[in-house]
Amino acid sequence: MNFETAVLHKKNKTERTIKSKVTPIYQTSAFAFNDLDELEGFYQGNGNYLYSRVGNPNTDELGDLIAGLEGAPAGVAASSGLSAILAGVLAVVKSGDHIVAADDLYGGSFHLIKEELTQLGIEVTVVSFSDMEKVEEAIRDNTKLLYSESITNPLLRVENLEDVASLAKKHNLISLIDNTFATPYHCQPYLKGIDLVVHSATKYIGGHSDITAGVLAGDEALIGKARGKIVNLGANLSPFEAWLTCRGAKTLALRMKQQSSNAKRVAEALKVNQDIKTVYYPFELGDAGFGAIVTIELADRINVNEFFKGLGWVKIVPTLAGVETSVSHPLTTSHRALPSETCRELGITSHVVRISIGIEDAEDIIAQLNHATNQGLA
Ligand SMILES: *Cc1c(COP(=O)(O)O)cnc(C)c1O
Repeated sequence: MNFETAVLHKKNKTERTIKSKVTPIYQTSAFAFNDLDELEGFYQGNGNYLYSRVGNPNTDELGDLIAGLEGAPAGVAASSGLSAILAGVLAVVKSGDHIVAADDLYGGSFHLIKEELTQLGIEVTVVSFSDMEKVEEAIRDNTKLLYSESITNPLLRVENLEDVASLAKKHNLISLIDNTFATPYHCQPYLKGIDLVVHSATKYIGGHSDITAGVLAGDEALIGKARGKIVNLGANLSPFEAWLTCRGAKTLALRMKQQSSNAKRVAEALKVNQDIKTVYYPFELGDAGFGAIVTIELADRINVNEFFKGLGWVKIVPTLAGVETSVSHPLTTSHRALPSETCRELGITSHVVRISIGIEDAEDIIAQLNHATNQGLA
């Protein structure tokens, strides 16, 4: 072999079987075959890989992991939470079909269904899921999908998943639940009869604010269809990000335990702060805490920007779920896309602050937040 050829084709140690402790990163766009029989074997479903947009061991590891944690037979990863939602929706509806969605969906999801899906000829009705009779009234002959979230953002309304599942079954619809805030550590919608579970793995599953990823879990047939959409739309997750997400997910239980108990402690402490009008936290869901988001509405006398300036080491970040405590201002970030009257009806005012509780010492978090409300008074 001449140099120019050898630099590309010299036999590499990695072509031997090496038993690494963790899955290596298959940072490759495609996979090689020994002969045409092996290639044909791929199309016959022998479980080999062809091309990373179609499938990759790292992205499959993530899909399988979350399916397992959700108690679902199958799972598939996507490039973001939104692309997982898009793939899940398009696996169920086509032009001319109708979706009934919750009016308090995550802002980006709301934008996706209201702007993009309606342009594709998919009809959408947005309705409050706190009244299942209203949801049932919104169902039409062409309705195919009910879509909500297990715990909503930012006001933490807890969905009654059994009710959503039974209404879907009664009308022969597919139910889709975004389980990002609860995570499978706290809640497994598939085991309560929900057909499709979606995650922005960007949040708790990854847990370290260093990736953008999404996952869908459900039965083989639906996930197979969703996988087809991800392949055709080019919405695949990169191997490296899948690997990082799986690495983060190993500590999901430890993080959720610590972050949820911290969140409950912080929520209790903020309840006695006179400068906070309302504390939103699902206390009723367990003594150990349920989820790590605490949302507050500051008293009218508080200057919100001064409150934000007084947060010190607590960063102002328009995301959530990292190991570090951070805050966001839903009205001007995550819920910017919602019509202002919807925000008003939902109670998302300029004084609402969403706090994503991290793994720090709970008393330090409380002290910093109390300091910020003091500064907001000045
Ligand atoms: C962040 C988020 C999404 C969107 O996920 P991306 O990974 O940003 O695409 C969807 N649903 C919820 C509840 C979220 O918090």
